[in-house]
Amino acid sequence: MVNGYAGKYLDVNLTDGSIKTFPTDMDLARKMVGGLTYGLYLLWKRTKPGMNPLGPENLLIVNTGPISGLVGTSRGTAVFKSPLTGLMGHAESGGHWTSELKFAGYDGIVVSGRAEEPIYLYVKDDQAEIRSAKDLWGKTTSQTEQAIVEELKDPFTQVISIGPAGEHLCREACIIHTGWHAFARTGGGCVMGSKNLKAIALRGTKGFPSLADPEKSYELLDNTIAYAQSDAMRQSLWRNRTQGSQASHVSAGDEGRGIFKNFEEGDHPMVSQVGGPRQLARNRVMDAACYLCPVGCLHLSVVRSGRFAGTWGQPDWDSSANLTQQTLVLDLDGLIYLNALCDDYGLDAEGVGGVVAWTMEAYEKGILTKEDLDGLDLTWGNVDAEAKLIWKIIHREGVGNLLADGFKGFLPKVGKGSEKFAMESKGVGFGGYQPWLFKESYAVSNIGGHHNTETPGSYVSNSLLYCVFAGGLMPQGFRSGADYYYALFNAVTGWDFRREDFDTLGTTGVTLGRAYNIREGYGGVMPPSEADTYPEKAHHRLTYGASKGKEYKKEEFLADRAKYYNGMGYDERGVPTKETLKKYGLEFTIKELEKAGAWD
Ligand code: SF4
Repeated sequence: MVNGYAGKYLDVNLTDGSIKTFPTDMDLARKMVGGLTYGLYLLWKRTKPGMNPLGPENLLIVNTGPISGLVGTSRGTAVFKSPLTGLMGHAESGGHWTSELKFAGYDGIVVSGRAEEPIYLYVKDDQAEIRSAKDLWGKTTSQTEQAIVEELKDPFTQVISIGPAGEHLCREACIIHTGWHAFARTGGGCVMGSKNLKAIALRGTKGFPSLADPEKSYELLDNTIAYAQSDAMRQSLWRNRTQGSQASHVSAGDEGRGIFKNFEEGDHPMVSQVGGPRQLARNRVMDAACYLCPVGCLHLSVVRSGRFAGTWGQPDWDSSANLTQQTLVLDLDGLIYLNALCDDYGLDAEGVGGVVAWTMEAYEKGILTKEDLDGLDLTWGNVDAEAKLIWKIIHREGVGNLLADGFKGFLPKVGKGSEKFAMESKGVGFGGYQPWLFKESYAVSNIGGHHNTETPGSYVSNSLLYCVFAGGLMPQGFRSGADYYYALFNAVTGWDFRREDFDTLGTTGVTLGRAYNIREGYGGVMPPSEADTYPEKAHHRLTYGASKGKEYKKEEFLADRAKYYNGMGYDERGVPTKETLKKYGLEFTIKELEKAGAWD
């Protein structure tokens, strides 16, 4: 066992049913650390270029990091080739599953192959087995978790699972844990569905692996908890503790960075009807936290009356902004209902909200008719029509079958200039922020339109695996949450990473992701600069309220993108130079990239 690391991976092949282990490569861990970057390396090494994301050869790599399972670090990642984009895919989730996996004695699980019938994987310490999930197929994610826990007769078992969206191979299907933690983006649930893998159930009793410097580790962890209880910290954490990310609905409008009507405006007169303060007073029933996190930014809300009465969920900002601001459903009960529908049926709420908003605009413009939409009157703000369309997407019914393939699948079929207002990049819809705020980020992201998962900083947090929302917890004396987690990483592993080593790790991860995408033909659009783009609508001028006059002009974007390429060591077409690849220890990618014509 190596400090902080469990020291081995579980290697499961669903085609032949074999279950083995392989050791964590500690030389590699010194370079790639864990989580996302290490998982991406495994994806590169263990798969062949050009594989079908829905084929048995694709991998689902469920990974932890060296500090995951401690205070504010209960996060893990899933890495795979995305069926939504044909590029690298990954998504992270908090909750309680990461600690169980690590406490069971594994740094991660690599699942390959395809089971003949629905199954789930059960891991308890050294025991790992494939069990039938025939009776679970068709169940929602919450029903699946409950049924598995009852079958195993162990309430401490933690489950990650897919719902009907994953079973129907919706390309935006996600993986859900405890009913609301989502591995949201890029279609991990679709990959599980393609493998007939309904769920992974985890239980670990071995505890956290050894600590290199227990005294320092406990000092840091204890100080964090003490700091979280201090008056100063109570105040600064107040918003997260009482409203969570839902506070952003109103503040986003106030700052003009909201995403109303398919990104038409950044502010709206009715913005206070949804999100934080009103949800707090009207619908919040219970607070929750990820394993060992003293912040507790998760706030469960229930619809108390009306036709959605009894629906409950834990809506987050990016997902509910896309489901409601985008479609002008400025109704709290509708917000909770739509979020719950997506989480329970295992569909990426953030992604599908963007698809629905695009469909509403296409309907308004006459590009899609009521007949095309199976009779749905998909006008702005029509929550019933939105819910019915999402249901159709989940079940691939009628027009839902078309839309379930995501932007990349349906835009060429619909045509008529509809790509100009499709707020996506590389097939992935934008998150909950206007492009003027995050500049070139959506366009250059390795996974497509996400604002902050593909920066060097996010590769660091997703490789060590800590929660950036818990970053405010750092004890006094630290400049930032990141600095605190760096100190914890060194105390836990016994390594002596300096700030520049973490910077190198971040750029190594982002560049490896880009190299993987180029190896895969950049989703069919080469060179990368042809795909690292924005739709026409992203450059329009906003006209209302706090967003009035805000604009991200195309010339500004092109200048920002050129600066980004240059800063990362990529050429003007967005391809990493060979010198850059060597600088970050990624020489092993050069031969494959030459074959892919990267520098031709
Ligand atoms: S801050 Fe929120 S999301 Fe992050 S670990 Fe704590 S409870 Fe989970």
